[in-house]
Amino acid sequence: MAKHTIVLIAGDGIGPEVAQAAQRVLDASGLSVEWVPAMAGAAAVERGIGDVLPAETLAAIRTHKIALKGPVTTPVGKGFKSVNVQLRQKLKLFAAVRPVRSLAGIKTRYEGVDMVIVRENTEGLYSGIENEIVPGVVTSLKVASEAACTRIARYAFRYATRRHRQKITVFHKANIMKLSDGLFLDCARKIHDEEYPNIEYEELIIDAGCMKLVQDPTRLDTLLMENLYGDLVSDLCAGLVGGLGVVPGSNIGEDAAVFEAVHGSAPDIAGRGWANPLALIMSGVMMLNHIHEETLAAKIKSAYDQVLAEGKSLTRDLGGIASTNEFADAVIAKMK
Ligand code: NAD
Repeated sequence: MAKHTIVLIAGDGIGPEVAQAAQRVLDASGLSVEWVPAMAGAAAVERGIGDVLPAETLAAIRTHKIALKGPVTTPVGKGFKSVNVQLRQKLKLFAAVRPVRSLAGIKTRYEGVDMVIVRENTEGLYSGIENEIVPGVVTSLKVASEAACTRIARYAFRYATRRHRQKITVFHKANIMKLSDGLFLDCARKIHDEEYPNIEYEELIIDAGCMKLVQDPTRLDTLLMENLYGDLVSDLCAGLVGGLGVVPGSNIGEDAAVFEAVHGSAPDIAGRGWANPLALIMSGVMMLNHIHEETLAAKIKSAYDQVLAEGKSLTRDLGGIASTNEFADAVIAKMK
C-alpha cells in the first residue's frame, strides 16, 4: 500500500501539462504515493459536472488532507465564483505561503533575493461580497476580522521563527483604510509584541513597499499582508526572480493543505508544450517537506538546481527552447 494518498487537480490551460510533468518528477523521486485525481475549474464544467468546484473534489481534499493543484481559469465578470477563493474559504486554507528566491542559472536584475510572502487567504476584498446599490453604483466589501488577522499574523511569526528568518514586514494601506488595514496592523503588532519579540518587525505603506521591492528586494525578508495585496505582490516578486514559471506556493489550513504555483492557467501558451513546470515542481517540493519527506524534497531540489545551473534544458520563459516534458525529463535524469 502506498504511504501517501495525494489529491491531484490538473486544472485548466497549461494546468494538465505542468501537473503531469510535476507528477512524473515526484513519482521518479521514489515517493510512495497513490494519486487521487479530482476536477476543478472549466475542466469540471466541460465534463458536465456543472460546478467549477465539485463537492467530490472538496470531499477528496478533506479526506486525504493534501492536494497538488494546477491553475484553473476563472471567467472574468459575471458567472461562477472563483474556484481558488472558494477552495481557500471552504477548506479554511488561511495562509498562502510563497517563497521567492533567486535561482542559480536564472539571470535576472537582482541576486540574492530570498523572501517569503505570507498572504491572508480568506478575507479582504476577496470575500466576494458585492452589491449593486442602485443602477450604475456598485460596492465591494472589504472584510477584516480580528480572528483571521490574528491567525495569519501568528502563522507568519511562527513560520519566520521556525525558518530562522530575521524580519517581518507588513504591507498595508492603513492610512486610507483605517479600520480594515488598521485592524490587520493592530493584530500583527500585538502578536509581535506579546509572542514574538525575537523577530524584527516593520510596517510599510504598500505603495512605498513596492518601490522598495523593485529598488532592492534583498532588503526584504518575510512579507505579511492581506489577501488582495498578497495576490498582486506575489506576481511582482515573481518578476524579480525570473517570472511566474519559478515561484511556488502553498495554501495551508489546520486540516488540509493545497500546493500550487503562483501562476495562472496561461491561456496564451496552453496546449503548446511550452509551459515551465518548475513552479509546480517546486510546489511539490514544498508539499514533500510538509508531509515529512524531506529527503525526497532535497533530491528533487538538487536535481532542478543542477538543470538550471547547466542551462541546457530551460523552457522559453527562461530563455531556452526546452518543452515542458523535456525540462521534466532533464530533472528526472539528474535523480538517477
Ligand atoms: P497567468 O499567470 O496565467 O499568466 C501570466 C503570464 O505569465 C502569461 O504570459 C503566461 O504565459 C505566463 N506564464 C504563467 N505561467 C507560466 C509558466 N508556468 N510557464 C511559462 N509562462 C507562464 O495569468 P493570467 O493570464 O492573468 O490569468 C489566466 C487565468 O488564470 C485567469 O483565468 C486567472 O483567473 C487564472 N489564475 C488562476 C490561478 C490559480 O489557479 N491558482 C492563479 C492566477 C490566475
